Amino acid sequence: MIKSDIIERPKLVLVVDDQEINRDALGIILEDDYNILYAENGKEALDIIYSHVNELSIILLDLSMPVMSGYEVLERLGSDESISHIPVIVLTADKSAELKALQMGASDFITKPFDLPEVIHKRVGRILELSEGKQLISAAEHDRLTGLYTRNFFFEYAGRLFRYHPEMRMDAVVVNIEQFHVINAVNGREFGDDVLRLIGSRIKEFLTGTKGIAARVEADRFDIYCLGQPDYRALLEYLQEKVSQISPKVSIHLRMGVMPWNGELDPITMFDRAHAACSMVRGDYKKPLMIYDEEMHARDLMNQRLLNDLNTAVREHQLQVYYQPKYDIQCDPPRLSSAEALIRWQHPELGLISPGMFVPLFEGNGLISVVDSFVWKETAKQISRWREKYGFTLPVSVNLSRTDIYDPTLVDRLVRLIEDNGLDYSAVKLEVTESAYTDKAKELLETVRELRNLGFEIEMDDFGSGYSSLNMLSDMPIDVLKMDMRFIRNIESSETDMRLVKLILDIAGYLKLRVVAEGVETAGQLSLLKEAGCGLVQGFYFSKPLPPEEFEKLIEKELSN
Ligand code: C2E
Ligand code: MG
Ligand code: MG
Repeated sequence: MIKSDIIERPKLVLVVDDQEINRDALGIILEDDYNILYAENGKEALDIIYSHVNELSIILLDLSMPVMSGYEVLERLGSDESISHIPVIVLTADKSAELKALQMGASDFITKPFDLPEVIHKRVGRILELSEGKQLISAAEHDRLTGLYTRNFFFEYAGRLFRYHPEMRMDAVVVNIEQFHVINAVNGREFGDDVLRLIGSRIKEFLTGTKGIAARVEADRFDIYCLGQPDYRALLEYLQEKVSQISPKVSIHLRMGVMPWNGELDPITMFDRAHAACSMVRGDYKKPLMIYDEEMHARDLMNQRLLNDLNTAVREHQLQVYYQPKYDIQCDPPRLSSAEALIRWQHPELGLISPGMFVPLFEGNGLISVVDSFVWKETAKQISRWREKYGFTLPVSVNLSRTDIYDPTLVDRLVRLIEDNGLDYSAVKLEVTESAYTDKAKELLETVRELRNLGFEIEMDDFGSGYSSLNMLSDMPIDVLKMDMRFIRNIESSETDMRLVKLILDIAGYLKLRVVAEGVETAGQLSLLKEAGCGLVQGFYFSKPLPPEEFEKLIEKELSN
């Protein structure tokens, strides 16, 4: 670890001596490196001490002076806690006074006539270091478990390095454990503690080879501030290898985010970015290391902008709902059976923004419910407008986010939506993404069950995108599986993919679930799906998502058939 001897800050020194020549001499020796205040006696000194408590770094104090002696100043310093932290070096010609001064709390002494300037300089520097180190250490509180620094101390220390040692090119590195709460829950806290301890000790070991400091800043988040490394893969792989050896039965995965030094950003901002980079690779076991780069920075700025602009967007009607048709392909010709409502943002400066840009962002902070409410209301109105115009109800599905599902007012809101627009529950279908089900939270299942009992049809969105297994399906409250487009993409060229699709269709049939194939783009895909017995298809082959006026052409074409 870095030693505190490299920490310096601009320092204010008080020189107290009744003889001008002594004050001048010390001034000349120290003025290049310190700011200096002068006092001619103890009384003046105390006035300055009290008015500069927070800035004063050290006092050089003569002992015998008129008006008030140095001893009296020492006594006051020793008895008043608000000023007792300021170190004192006494200046004296009297050998016998040294011991007394030291006993009274002085840190060191300089004998008169003055030593060589370098000696004085060194002594002042050393006492400052020691006292600063002492203050740091007293604030320190190493993390009990890992022996690394605690968060506050770490950032204090890193801040000093950043301010006073710009020549040190320090990177910010964040290490995190995937699903640490699960590891804890399954294997017990003690096991979890072992993992943390091991990571802590390996990070310390790493820091013996390079300059740097490290902290455990949160449960399973480790921050490392270290001299730039050419390649962090080596460090991550090393840590990963070590944690993998803890137990053959438990698989532990680490991820890492790095913000490289750029000379401008303070450690707090750097670690924010390193942390953002680290979060980017959450769950990505194949690529667990992310370096924060320009692209991420641009994305961060963009995200910030979108977050700021959302309210205006709602107020100024920049949000629009598009509709993408779902066709029943077992009819000939295929029949328009329903649609999905998909949000679009017509931004005045950025143009049309697709939900891929902002839905995940707003999901992260709950703002998605603002968007979703808007979409639901707009959709319900649209369904009833079309019912009036065309004389029948075209059901439309809307997307629900995880945030919506955990909102205790969800059921009420959806009931009101149906009632306010005079719709049947079957008119609005609810798409819940597969990954929401994998939490398997009782709450979620209960809410979805309640909605389903009311008469809402539930579609499991993105089915097969990697979370649930087929055998979980039987006890889920769902009516429809929306097969993720990844399955469909290669069915024309890959027999395995086609077999998988058939398997899903078989199981869905067995469970009496209807299936929507998403992302169908070609006639070839369509005919394979039709042959395999898939009922519904959504995709560019039929139509892209369309604004309502254009979607009406599809309805009208349907009616003319
Ligand atoms: P999703 O619910 O799975 O919606 C289907 C996405 O697939 C849509 O993307 C659609 O445009 C796209 N797609 C449809 N057919 C094809 C095709 O043949 N080829 C390809 N390559 N893509 C196709 P979109 O509209 O960009 O939406 C992306 C995701 O954003 C949606 O995936 C959904 O998860 C989310 N989303 C969209 N609107 C909302 C909303 O109002 N609320 C919430 N919570 N999420 C929304
Ligand atoms: Mg959807
Ligand atoms: Mg989908």
